[in-house]
Amino acid sequence: MDIETEIAAWRKDFLSCRCGHRHTDTDIRTVCRLAPGALEEAAAYVRRTALSDVLLVADAATRKAVGLRLEEELARKGVRFAVCCLTPNAAGDVTADGDAVLRVLLAADAGTRLLVAVGAGTIHDIVRLVAAKMRIPFVSVPTAPSVDGFTSAGAPVVVGGVKTTVPAVAPEALFADTEVLANAPRELIAAGYGDMIGKWTALADWLCSRELGGEPFCPTAYRMTKEALARCFRNEAAIADADEKGIAALAEALLLSGLSMQAVGHSRPASGGEHHVSHAWEMQSLARGERQRLHGVKVGVATVLVSALYRRLAEREPEPFARFYTDLPKPDDLAAKLRRVGAPSTPAELGFGPERVESALREAPGLRDRTTGLRVIRDRYPEWFAEMARATF
Ligand SMILES: [Zn+2]
Ligand SMILES: [Zn+2]
Repeated sequence: MDIETEIAAWRKDFLSCRCGHRHTDTDIRTVCRLAPGALEEAAAYVRRTALSDVLLVADAATRKAVGLRLEEELARKGVRFAVCCLTPNAAGDVTADGDAVLRVLLAADAGTRLLVAVGAGTIHDIVRLVAAKMRIPFVSVPTAPSVDGFTSAGAPVVVGGVKTTVPAVAPEALFADTEVLANAPRELIAAGYGDMIGKWTALADWLCSRELGGEPFCPTAYRMTKEALARCFRNEAAIADADEKGIAALAEALLLSGLSMQAVGHSRPASGGEHHVSHAWEMQSLARGERQRLHGVKVGVATVLVSALYRRLAEREPEPFARFYTDLPKPDDLAAKLRRVGAPSTPAELGFGPERVESALREAPGLRDRTTGLRVIRDRYPEWFAEMARATF
């Protein structure tokens, strides 16, 4: 089944879901192509949508790897377009911050009718915010299967040194070329796998927040993310080899995970304590002006730590926590999975010592207004964070 047929089947399930969320049909209706040669289809789509006044947004690496080919296709089809090539900040990262947003706004003009994001997660976050503010659509051309945020409607951006997720727009259409994705740098593929590994603890936390916090829950979105996660694990060897079939499976999993968030209008299906730890590390890096590690890479390492803490919580207080957390994989098994795809599995590999582990675990529960296992541990067993940090090194 191709991804569009699969999404159509999920849409039907959402429309008959009575969980209390507003699953309107439009929430998951986008053109979503995942196939070899999708890049040419992207050019054809852009031509049908806007013959002129198109702005492509990329960075130097994604433009070289993918953008130039798309530009050639567009030129051949007679589309008039401009290109905004984003440059890294002082720390060496292209960041979704005020400067990047301003650069895209300056490259656009009053007549710009369509934006095209050519890149990975950060480029998409910048473009989705500008598209929302300019009230124009954008087309997504992912260059790596590195994150599940391509189809989401929220943009995590840095405002005044603090990372905040602001409402923006989902792409009108997405064209993920599997040949392009399979040729992405291995580190980005490993990051996508790390982002998916995090769904284990995210889904477990969602069960916890439903029962303990009375927070909104949707069985359909839960099932969708769970199936995406299982697909990823089934194809682990092929993903590690970066063969096209494995990369397609990883990309499908990431897209489905992103769509499950879109269908409920919040990130609980795909983000729990492990993401909050990753956010804490990210804010620490921002404050220190150090280069960021990839989102999914941090999430993968955080998942190993958080699953260890959650399994301990399930043992200490089986009622109610065993119901949410006993089925989590052993931390060693998760670490082995990460290593198999070439992803870091320990904080030390990210350059973080015990103090950064402990401080991130302490800060994480306060970053979002959500019930998570980490929050329970902070309130009942705060000493576990320091113990975890020591045990990791
Ligand atoms: Zn993520
Ligand atoms: Zn539902």
